[in-house]
Amino acid sequence: MKERIYLDHAATTPTDEAVLREMIPYFSEVYGNASSTHRAGRDAVAAVDRARESIARALHASPSEIYFTSGGTESDNWAVRGLAEANSEKGRHIVASSIEHPAVLGALKKLEKAGYEITYLPVNDQGYVSLESVRQALREDTVLLTVMTVNNEVGSIQPIREIASIAHEKGVIVHTDAVQAAGVVPLDVREMGVDALSISAHKFYGPKGIGALYLRKGRKIAPLLIGGEQERNLRGGTYNTPAIVGMGAALERAVFSITEVRRHLSSLKERFLTLTDDYVRLNGGEYSHPGIVNLLFYGVRNDELLSALDREGIEASAGSACSSGSTEPSHVLAAMGRGEGEIKSSVRFSFGKGNTLEEIDRAVDVIKALTARLRKDADLFKINESKKKNL
Ligand code: PMP
Repeated sequence: MKERIYLDHAATTPTDEAVLREMIPYFSEVYGNASSTHRAGRDAVAAVDRARESIARALHASPSEIYFTSGGTESDNWAVRGLAEANSEKGRHIVASSIEHPAVLGALKKLEKAGYEITYLPVNDQGYVSLESVRQALREDTVLLTVMTVNNEVGSIQPIREIASIAHEKGVIVHTDAVQAAGVVPLDVREMGVDALSISAHKFYGPKGIGALYLRKGRKIAPLLIGGEQERNLRGGTYNTPAIVGMGAALERAVFSITEVRRHLSSLKERFLTLTDDYVRLNGGEYSHPGIVNLLFYGVRNDELLSALDREGIEASAGSACSSGSTEPSHVLAAMGRGEGEIKSSVRFSFGKGNTLEEIDRAVDVIKALTARLRKDADLFKINESKKKNL
């Protein structure tokens, strides 16, 4: 049996054993409803409060600015719709990058149907938004700007601080999807100057199905879930105490080891990039997430490469796991100017703290061998096709 090599950490990460251990008592020992006033409830809410404090500390926010959600999708949906709706007296125009995650894009589409106007910022061929395009897009009636901190498909890191400062000059609320950034790119909401920021625990070695939205004090947002009074009456529902504890523990650990993890990921990336040759091009630029590499293998179909890799025990993806079931070509690579054929030849590899240099070396060897074979097959196929035409 070949050892499997997991290179899809942008899709999700394994939950740290230590994080899991911290969560376990909150399933059936400390099982009270965190909103109950008796002892069992008080024990649970104490754990929820501790997690809220550690998340706030990690983001340089205050605990009253942290709202628990079910993950990145919910945080993004809520931020975009809730902020636009609650502040629509300023206007109904929104600015977003064209490479946002579907969780943001989907929410924007809903708003568009409800009469909002959206301006999508272009990106250059390396996946970066320009400050000039932000300046040009903002209007008097712009209510919200949403630009992701790190792109999940190509890893580009956007200049959020500069973007936020331009937006604030026009009184525009700023949200950033920092789901891929947390644990790898330092996040300081005060320094970044954002009003809202989304994170999701399963991207930083925490459990799935739990996330948070940072919302700057004083910012108005429409309620998300109506019912109980949890989360300051904005998101009702019994607290998922074990998951909240897990997210708090995971983010604390991630922030503590961020320098070491970044260094490790950078060394893996550097080694992995020895793959690039005349047939392989990097989709992305210099200033990017050290664990995300998107490569374009000319002459190779990504679906064929991915299944051949899977048979060799190497797990990667064609881009976002959220859209991997769809046949639509990546909107991120399209926005970066890649043609359909180039998009269908692109594969995302994303490294995690558990990957080793030995694994990367093996992956590089396997990828080189497979692409050489698949590229040759592709050429043969072309010849056959033209031969057929001549018949
Ligand atoms: N935003 C980004 C940038 C992501 O990568 C993801 C996860 N693919 C999400 C949002 C959605 O997060 P979740 O899976 O927690 O809903």
